[in-house]
Amino acid sequence: MNDKINVLISEEEIAKRISEMAEEITKDTGDEPIVLIGILKGSIMLMADLARKLKQDVKIDFMDISSYGDSDTSSGEIKINKDLEYAIEGENVIIIEDIVDTGTTMSYLLDHLREKKPASLKLCTLLDKPENRRFDVKCDYIGFEIPNKFVVGYGLDYAQKYRNLPYIGCVDTTEK
Ligand code: 5GP
Repeated sequence: MNDKINVLISEEEIAKRISEMAEEITKDTGDEPIVLIGILKGSIMLMADLARKLKQDVKIDFMDISSYGDSDTSSGEIKINKDLEYAIEGENVIIIEDIVDTGTTMSYLLDHLREKKPASLKLCTLLDKPENRRFDVKCDYIGFEIPNKFVVGYGLDYAQKYRNLPYIGCVDTTEK
């Protein structure tokens, strides 16, 4: 790890906010069983920490998806590299995402999963970068709203590096 990383959100701030998000989810869902769908790979840390704070029955599934073509012009189409293992019809589903930027990925995924007829479908994202939004996406649970900067850590990568950092930071491009 040669790059200098400037801390934007500390490990302690993340832990505190995730506890609050779990309380928000519990307030909305009570004792009802829920299905968490993590979007690989960026959501793994949030999934692990958030799931352990929830007290009701929780099923966990993962999808691996990638944006399709040019997000400037695309209609928000994505390629599904790994689909769900379990049916979600009639289930209360919460998507667990690392960051919503343009909204391209989540806009498509929400439409795609709605077709599978879950009882409810919500979106939980650790980070929200609303400045760059191109598609109107409703984020039900947001960890932190951040400025339009490229961030790494706590699951988020730069060329597959930095996912294991316990905090969220920005790569300092002024340093050599
Ligand atoms: P969107 O489709 O909303 O434009 O982009 C969502 C995806 O882009 C995220 O799941 C993430 O993989 C990637 N992404 C967007 N902004 C960032 C960022 O600041 N850092 C990293 N590491 N990935 C990002």
